[in-house]
Amino acid sequence: MILVFAEHNGGDVDNHSLQTLTFANNLSKEKGLSMEVVSFGDTDVSATVKQYGAAKNHCIKADNLTQYSPEAWAQSLGQLAESTGATLLLASSSVKGNEVLSYVAAQKSLALVSQVLAVGGDSNVTRSSWAGGLLEEVQVSQTLGLYTVADGAIEAQEAPVDSCEVCEFTPTMDDKYFRVQLKRMEASVHEGPNLKTASLVIGGGGGVGSAEGFAPLEKLSEMLKGVVGSSRVATNNGWRVHTQQIGMTGSPIAPKLYIACGISGAIQHMAGCKNCENILAINTDEEAPIFSHADYGIVGDLHKVVPAIIAELEKG
Ligand code: FAD
Repeated sequence: MILVFAEHNGGDVDNHSLQTLTFANNLSKEKGLSMEVVSFGDTDVSATVKQYGAAKNHCIKADNLTQYSPEAWAQSLGQLAESTGATLLLASSSVKGNEVLSYVAAQKSLALVSQVLAVGGDSNVTRSSWAGGLLEEVQVSQTLGLYTVADGAIEAQEAPVDSCEVCEFTPTMDDKYFRVQLKRMEASVHEGPNLKTASLVIGGGGGVGSAEGFAPLEKLSEMLKGVVGSSRVATNNGWRVHTQQIGMTGSPIAPKLYIACGISGAIQHMAGCKNCENILAINTDEEAPIFSHADYGIVGDLHKVVPAIIAELEKG
């Protein structure tokens, strides 16, 4: 049996978990196994997971487990996997999915394979590494396979089943598993289009030089109804907040036009730019790697080029 840890927010199963369910459902058909889901909290997600092929939903509702607590959740998943005889335990390669399954792996002395893209015969697993820049083939020999599925490995696709049995599971818990507990969550306040959905993004990097140096980029973005993003150098320097970082450890972007100002084009930055339709790079160094990714390039000082673009636009 394939057991899938489904993440949800107040009953809303997130898209990455739906992808993971689709991935698990396809795998269950290939391997002739059934697919069951496990979820934490009072809200019943059976109606959703049933649409994605789950024959059973194991709900873990104990009061001390409704709030996120990675080691305790991992202990719960491990016990459930054992009592149901699951041979594969899957989760999304999200922050929570990776964290919880890492604890399952540690608690059971098993290997975890993260960022999985495909599972073939003979327990051969293809995983993504270096933000998709490298594919690895690994072979895992253990009684319980622990995989986290990469975001985008597959598109979420409904495959409804007739019924989804709801079962409550109450694990045996010990205080030692509550070393880490979630105390508070705060959503970032965002107005207007965000980086992930914007059709025009203006990025600033080390070449911008300071927090104040972003003012012309903000002005250009306002004129073109875009969103300002940054490289990690800009966030590391405290010029921009992390939610504005583009790349492997930031947000992926997919605009019609990305104007990259004073950004070198490091692989980790470009990992977030794979879906840009067009890239315009502005850089003083004609050898900067960003030019090998760019559709348009301006070799020049962004502190002169950006104001010049603004001046042209102001002429109407
Ligand atoms: P720099 O390397 O400082 O480059 C500045 C560029 O600006 C240079 O090309 C320079 O020629 C140009 N320049 C200087 N002055 C001007 C000027 N006046 N006008 C025009 N051009 C000018 N980086 C990310 O961005 N996103 C990530 O998500 C990310 N994740 C990472 C994850 C890991 C595990 C690691 C190890 C690194 C990660 N990085 C990430 C960092 C990445 O490797 C680079 O260090 C970073 O992207 C460099 O940022 P930059 O190009 O803005 O700065």
